[in-house]
Amino acid sequence: MTKLKPCPFCGSKAKMERTPINPYYYVICTNLECDATVGRFQPTEEEAVVVWNRRDGEEK
Ligand SMILES: [Zn+2]
Repeated sequence: MTKLKPCPFCGSKAKMERTPINPYYYVICTNLECDATVGRFQPTEEEAVVVWNRRDGEEK
């Protein structure tokens, strides 16, 4: 699997999360004060990583 880059905002480690109900993945920053969530829900971990690494998933 593609490696997660550090958070684009604070440089902290990022981690993969999975929604509890639907099988969707997203990446969040582990720094609680940063609270960055990049990317909408993705159907696979790989896609969630790609979106995070591109840093273009900030649309609300
Ligand atoms: Zn961060």
